[in-house]
Amino acid sequence: MTDAASRESSHDCISRIDLVRGDITRLDVDAIVNAANTTLLGGGGVDGAIHRAAGPQLREVCAALGGCATGDAKITPAFRLPARYVIHTVGPVYRDGAHREPDLLRSCYEKSLALAEENGVNSIAFPAISCGAYGYPIDAAAQIAIDATLRFLADHPLPRRVSFVLLLESDYGVYERLLRDRRRA
Ligand code: ADP
Repeated sequence: MTDAASRESSHDCISRIDLVRGDITRLDVDAIVNAANTTLLGGGGVDGAIHRAAGPQLREVCAALGGCATGDAKITPAFRLPARYVIHTVGPVYRDGAHREPDLLRSCYEKSLALAEENGVNSIAFPAISCGAYGYPIDAAAQIAIDATLRFLADHPLPRRVSFVLLLESDYGVYERLLRDRRRA
């Protein structure tokens, strides 16, 4: 088979993506992604919710990882969560968009998906990385999340399913509109 033939079209890959409104800690998927900070020792927002739900063992294993650079990702067990793994990635703090924020955010999705594939993950769920305390505008961030994910899925059979989990209804609406536009394209 040629490369072109083995590559799924991005249109076909959209069917491997779904949207969920709610709390990512409740999801029964193989891996959930944490929007962590460089210390990996826990924080606010989704990071705090994941550490609370996973229990204290998560912080212990994270402490042994020696932190994580912005744009990179590391994997741990998920302990008390329904998921099997937590993939911790560190999104950029948004300043003005001219400080490598788009590249770093794209890298979070690429590195997380690559780690998932290496670990045989079938289903993975992402929060809106950097869109809370780190201030990334949701429209621009969602474009990057969807684009990076579709590109990865086009070349890789795993993960089979990717969920974007949005706590806020307004964020859910942004993803819904962008995916609808992609389906029509
Ligand atoms: P960052 O520091 O990367 O901006 P935050 O945790 O502050 O991370 O916010 C990232 C996104 O996660 C925001 O869109 C926020 O609404 C969302 N969020 C917060 N808690 C949860 C949760 N329990 N499940 C899913 N998303 C969440």
